[in-house]
Amino acid sequence: MVTPPPDLAAISALQSKLVSALRPVLPEHALLWEPEDTIPYECDGLAAYRRMPLAVALPETEEQVAQILKICFAMEIPVVPRGSGTGLSGGAMPLSQGLVLSLAKLKKILSIDPFTRTAVVQPGVRNLAISEAVSHLGLYYAPDPSSQIACSIGGNVNENSGGVHCLKYGLTLHNVLRVRGVLMNGEIVEFGSLAPDSPGLDLLAIMMGSEGMLAVVTEVTVKLVAKPKLARVIMASFDDIEKGGNAVAAIIAAGIIPAGLEMMDKATTRAVEEFVHAGYDLDAEAILLCESDGTPEEVAEEIERMTQVLEKAGASGIQISKDEAERLKFWSGRKNAFPAAGRLAADYYCMDGTIPRRHIATLLKRIQGMEKKYGLGCLNVFHAGDGNMHPLILFNGADQDEWHRAEEFGTEILEACVELGGTITGEHGVGIEKINSMCVQFGEGERESFWGVKAAFDPEKLLNPDKAIPTLNRCAEYGRMRISNGKLPHPELERF
Ligand SMILES: Cc1cc2nc3c(=O)[nH]c(=O)nc-3n(C[C@H](O)[C@H](O)[C@H](O)COP(=O)(O)OP(=O)(O)OC[C@H]3O[C@@H](n4cnc5c(N)ncnc54)[C@H](O)[C@@H]3O)c2cc1C
Repeated sequence: MVTPPPDLAAISALQSKLVSALRPVLPEHALLWEPEDTIPYECDGLAAYRRMPLAVALPETEEQVAQILKICFAMEIPVVPRGSGTGLSGGAMPLSQGLVLSLAKLKKILSIDPFTRTAVVQPGVRNLAISEAVSHLGLYYAPDPSSQIACSIGGNVNENSGGVHCLKYGLTLHNVLRVRGVLMNGEIVEFGSLAPDSPGLDLLAIMMGSEGMLAVVTEVTVKLVAKPKLARVIMASFDDIEKGGNAVAAIIAAGIIPAGLEMMDKATTRAVEEFVHAGYDLDAEAILLCESDGTPEEVAEEIERMTQVLEKAGASGIQISKDEAERLKFWSGRKNAFPAAGRLAADYYCMDGTIPRRHIATLLKRIQGMEKKYGLGCLNVFHAGDGNMHPLILFNGADQDEWHRAEEFGTEILEACVELGGTITGEHGVGIEKINSMCVQFGEGERESFWGVKAAFDPEKLLNPDKAIPTLNRCAEYGRMRISNGKLPHPELERF
């Protein structure tokens, strides 16, 4: 199929119309449309996919957000909400005939209540800034994506983000009490409550991970938790990746929920050790980091139990952090694994899928085979306790052939996740990156019910359309429609 060239005159006319309509509701500096101003918004953390938007709006109040949406609704212009743009699945990638609505300027912490252990924050507040603001009260916000220094709470809600401590403390879903937002038609909505449960359907849960497709989040009430008195981490080495994978399953099977349970393979350990000098065992095929937190008594007991399980699972070496400095040193490699990957190749492609924990070793072995098949290296560093895998495929983006091989490598990993009983996304969302893989994971009926949910919030399909939920046409193109009794479903659809 040949894509027709864009009608530049029509795009330019639409841009002028949009800018004129938005000017009265925004200060001069809060509306960008010249290419040199909008180019920083052409992609999110998945830089392989880029597109220039018609314009970018940077509102400073909820009222401005509502006015912008009303105008775009009336003009039938699609809107792509954007937090900090650290997303790794292209969820905030612009539409060439659409507006990017950045929430970066709504960055106030509106209130902190140490008695109910909650904070009300605007969507552009950085994840880590919440913990920093409540640290003096002995509290913190538990979900800790590795991008927490930069990513926004609005983005976290829309991706249902996770992190090292989510195994024990839950994902964003479990740490948010209330969300306020604006629908595409400008109507203000609120989901959830300060009470432990709210009546009616759980619409708050539907907002979690909705990838900017249902409402623009303008306020979030988060739960705060007490900082544990003590935390210690075990660093266990394994001479065989299968033993390491099975040790993860054994810890959970023993009824232990560690504060963090992460795994790195040999290639990752070698890459990060050169970078952070954390004292990792460079001969180990796999390294597990198992953290325990709580009172000193609880930690001592849990560390003892985890050590026994790890020894029984065949650990070839065990080190336990002696003090806080050593604990942070052990974690420094895991936390710096992504930048370390950046030193090994011009580019890396971070995949994200989940599998049942008992299949970790199987998937790792399959990935080793795929490295040979595609002629590309892959580092494995992941949230083992959640079965959330993050293979980092190394490639050179300047070489189109390498990029296509990396894409195919990634797709094959996701399909293997589904085959092993897992999912195509763990915590990075579907965005534009995994939209074809959605056709592998979900049947036609399921995809139609997703569209039904979307229609209840945004019947005109103007809020972040073309992301996360594939259309029937798209799945047909991808060749994932099942032929039943020799009949192709929806024969009326054009096949490309
Ligand atoms: C180095 C690195 C490490 C990472 N590690 C992790 C990790 O450990 N765990 C994890 O879960 N993720 C991780 N991520 C991915 C990313 O940081 C998270 O998905 C994060 O939640 C995105 O937040 P953001 O503010 O950057 O959102 P953006 O990238 O700006 O947007 C993400 C999605 O949310 C929507 N959106 C954003 N704000 C709003 C809003 N206010 N209202 C409506 N929709 C909105 C966008 O339309 C888009 O679909 C990592 C990313 C990087 C670059």
